[in-house]
Amino acid sequence: MPDLVVAGAGMAGLVAAARARELGADVVVHEKGDRPGGSMLLSSCVVWRYRDWDDFRAECPGGDPALQRVVWEGLDDALAWLESLGAPVVTRETGNPLTTGLRFDPRGLTEALANDVRLGEPLLEIPEGIPTILATGGFQGDPELVGRYVTEERLVLRANPWSSGDGLRLALERGAGLSDGLGEFYGRNLAAAPRIEPEDFVPLAQVYARHAVVENARGERFEARTWSEIDVVQWTARQPGARAWYVVPDDALREPVRERTVGEVIEAAAGAGAPVERRNGATRVEVVAGITTTLGGLHVDARARAADGLWAAGADVGGISTGGWSSALASALVLGMIAAEDALG
Ligand SMILES: Cc1cc2nc3c(=O)[nH]c(=O)nc-3n(C[C@H](O)[C@H](O)[C@H](O)COP(=O)(O)OP(=O)(O)OC[C@H]3O[C@@H](n4cnc5c(N)ncnc54)[C@H](O)[C@@H]3O)c2cc1C
Repeated sequence: MPDLVVAGAGMAGLVAAARARELGADVVVHEKGDRPGGSMLLSSCVVWRYRDWDDFRAECPGGDPALQRVVWEGLDDALAWLESLGAPVVTRETGNPLTTGLRFDPRGLTEALANDVRLGEPLLEIPEGIPTILATGGFQGDPELVGRYVTEERLVLRANPWSSGDGLRLALERGAGLSDGLGEFYGRNLAAAPRIEPEDFVPLAQVYARHAVVENARGERFEARTWSEIDVVQWTARQPGARAWYVVPDDALREPVRERTVGEVIEAAAGAGAPVERRNGATRVEVVAGITTTLGGLHVDARARAADGLWAAGADVGGISTGGWSSALASALVLGMIAAEDALG
């Protein structure tokens, strides 16, 4: 009998398993998909925290302060631990003055952590008498759960296809509770191209609502209030067809969006076949809401405990970013380590 069972070989599960092995445990890792890495492998892989605690609280005011504190205080040591395992760092800055962290190469990070994963073997029930960590990556891949908690509009899945709420269901059956903020999610408005493949998740993200007029099919407008534009994608998700239009004046086309300009991002949208129109000195781009990670989920305590003999980490845990956005990879990293340490006593 192993010392520990982990469900999910994405960020949180791989971290938990690596930490448990380091502590000398015999670990079995189940993975539903045909490869390790989960959504982390598809991600930009910036693992970050707010520089200031007060900013974290102000940006995510509905989050559980005890969990937020654990992630915020634990991240720097956890990043150093990841590096010590050989995870390759691409840059040592986030490009955002509000935040600090590291950007990893997701493939190298997966290789540094993955070891003996049982690919194609989902965890479908919790084993009796073996400490178990649920790290199945949230419920964005399940239209029924998204319809119940988030929106009945059809969203583009901007994530791995396997995270469909298994951890949530298994833990609720075991008496675990739900976090706040079940209707919240992190995602991006994507150019409404006819086909959107995983390699398009970053290049087709349209993150310049602050330079545009944002409107729905009825012409009703929304003003972006957050730096991450998470409020814009959450609003879009609840509009008819989960669609919106960004109307960008010509003088905004040179504004920077990360390493590109607004104009270059729009060119990429047009190149992928998304509706892009020129009208009266402005460009109108159709976008559709993409869901990346649900932000509501299981309630855990500061030791990642969800129920008796059961721990959870990563996007299966809710209530950290509530009201805003903080790095899901950071909470997966810190709570994955804590879950392993606590589960092994
Ligand atoms: C394009 C993109 C860019 C992103 N950029 C960033 C970023 O820069 N910074 C950031 O912080 N976040 C980013 N994210 C979000 C981040 O990648 C995820 O939130 C993070 O990977 C969540 O970690 P996790 O371990 O909970 O889930 P995942 O990494 O998705 O892993 C969950 C794993 O569980 C498996 N699984 C599901 N059900 C079962 C089951 N029953 N049994 C066994 N296994 C199961 C899945 O197959 C998957 O492998 C991005 C995501 C995407 C898609």
